[in-house]
Amino acid sequence: MTPADALRVTARGAMARSAPRSAAVHLFETGLGSHVFVADGSRLFDADPILFSRLDTAQTDWTVGALLAEAGLDEAPAIDDAALSGPPLHALSLAVAQQCNLGCTYCYAQQGEFGGAAQNMSRKTALQAVDLLVDAALPGSRLNLAFLGGEPLANRPVVQAATRYAAERAAERGVDITFSITTNGTLLQPADGAFFEDYGFAVTISVDGPREVHDRLRPYKGGRGSYDRIMEHVRPLLATQRSMQVSARVTVTPANLGLRMTLEQLIAEGFHSVGFAPLLSAPSGQGEMQRDDLELMLGAMIDCGREYERRIRTGARYLFSNMVNAMTEIGKGTHRPYPCGAGAGYLGVSADGELAACHRFVGDPTGALGSLATGIDQGRQAAWLKERHVHRQAPCTLCWARYLCGGGCHHEVIRRGRPACDFIRGWLHYCLGAYLRVSAGAEPGSASDPSAVTSSLSDLAPRIRV
Ligand code: SF4
Ligand code: SF4
Repeated sequence: MTPADALRVTARGAMARSAPRSAAVHLFETGLGSHVFVADGSRLFDADPILFSRLDTAQTDWTVGALLAEAGLDEAPAIDDAALSGPPLHALSLAVAQQCNLGCTYCYAQQGEFGGAAQNMSRKTALQAVDLLVDAALPGSRLNLAFLGGEPLANRPVVQAATRYAAERAAERGVDITFSITTNGTLLQPADGAFFEDYGFAVTISVDGPREVHDRLRPYKGGRGSYDRIMEHVRPLLATQRSMQVSARVTVTPANLGLRMTLEQLIAEGFHSVGFAPLLSAPSGQGEMQRDDLELMLGAMIDCGREYERRIRTGARYLFSNMVNAMTEIGKGTHRPYPCGAGAGYLGVSADGELAACHRFVGDPTGALGSLATGIDQGRQAAWLKERHVHRQAPCTLCWARYLCGGGCHHEVIRRGRPACDFIRGWLHYCLGAYLRVSAGAEPGSASDPSAVTSSLSDLAPRIRV
């Protein structure tokens, strides 16, 4: 059996075991015993064999509900059908440069220009956006200002002006503000590192794997590879990151499915963390993941996850962010009616000041939500939040993973539907088991306590009730 075949076998097993049989619960077994994940409230329990077997043979969700009630596990629904109403704005991303020097084959922003003319955001527009974010913030709240593009460093003066202004305005109002930037890394200069360090930026570098693969997927517009230039510019930041955190984000296409090699190579380079996201929707359709690719990707994700489990057990770090995030979310019992804050507490701003549901909806009428000149369009926002609620998504209402998943990225779902549900459920199924294994091996204060390994896991606490 080839390594790829082995990954496929793993993935198929996870997909088969996580297929939705009940909307109310997901039943699974690990070496530790039998477990039930209750969708409502994202609650995780060990189950005795009798309860497990009765749940396993229950024919309807009504019977499952009755069994949960009998076991004392029923609660009032944590999430009802009501849409979020007037959510406070807490994060904005500014498309400060709707232009890019790279010509990535799959770019959702169509080489940075979002299907329009190349343009930069003016200083005035950026400061106006900061005012929108800060003016309505309640004292004590925590805000985030993100810079995206295109390539945001193509408009460095506006990034710097908006950051300084936002930090001053936030301090005046007594609110915390954090900053983030997603960049292709080609234009980074040492002074950028110093600036990002001063303001504690979360810096995300888009990098798609080892040089040969990356260069094929993320070339300069003229076709030349960008990997060497990026790493040459990023390494000084990696060496000096203290309050800033420099992470890598890998967009996974059928051409770069060697996740483990990419992960280890980028960790060895010194990235603070490395995360993977499958390409599900591209304007050209080029590079979109198909079922077969998603199967291999799931196998590769689980392979990376198992390595995470091994390392954690020995007290080592393994900065695979998909896994770290999943452990944190499962530990918190995250349950949500949306996949993200898009169109709610988070909005995107185009270079000319139009408001969009998020950075990917910039220039797209589907997610238009007003403008800096006229403010957030309350009517459109209410309609968006009503329409996008996970209870309104036909397959999701039957899926046990709905409150962890939230129904999938709005942009990808609207563009392409839901081709990745088996992948999502298979990954969550693996992560639930991994969470239990990691928790069981963790003695507080011991070297294998996951919270001792990375602060992102500081709120990881066993939620198992027997
Ligand atoms: S999008 Fe998420 S919640 Fe909806 S069916 Fe797919 S996996 Fe389930
Ligand atoms: S809609 Fe998709 S791209 Fe936009 S913030 Fe949500 S998950 Fe991210």
